[in-house]
Amino acid sequence: MTDFSNQCFVCGKEIDPETTELNKQLNLPVCDNCKGTEREKKAIDDHLESMAEGFVCGCI
Ligand SMILES: [Zn+2]
Repeated sequence: MTDFSNQCFVCGKEIDPETTELNKQLNLPVCDNCKGTEREKKAIDDHLESMAEGFVCGCI
């Protein structure tokens, strides 16, 4: 499994977790190049979808 803690979740670029902001929805780091872009929004959607598939649970 990929460790997302030290790379931008949008473009996969290595980042410094100490200085990089987290996306508040996913709690994953996003670099300055991707922050606030359409690509970021799309990556969020992709992540939420894959998480939904991973946690199939009727307890919402
Ligand atoms: Zn990025």
